[in-house]
Amino acid sequence: MSHTPHEIYQRSTAPVTIDESRCIADKGCTVCVDVCPLDLLAIDLTKGKAYMKFDECWYCMPCEQDCPTGAVKVEIPYLLR
Ligand code: SF4
Ligand code: SF4
Repeated sequence: MSHTPHEIYQRSTAPVTIDESRCIADKGCTVCVDVCPLDLLAIDLTKGKAYMKFDECWYCMPCEQDCPTGAVKVEIPYLLR
């Protein structure tokens, strides 16, 4: 993988996006990171916000469902809907 996490986060096709204005990782929240079975999400410690570190999503949804502020949005591909 040659992509840096920052590049992956900025791609418009990233399956999981984080609304940084809602994310409270800077207050200590790590819920989405903790619930992802593939460890795809991480906290950007310089920003204090969560981001998608690895683009291999299973669309299992707990990251979106369990985020206390509704900051996580999982874009499910049409083929899987
Ligand atoms: S669960 Fe929500 S508020 Fe918490 S770190 Fe993840 S995106 Fe941010
Ligand atoms: S939908 Fe599942 S695999 Fe994808 S980021 Fe969320 S918890 Fe991880």
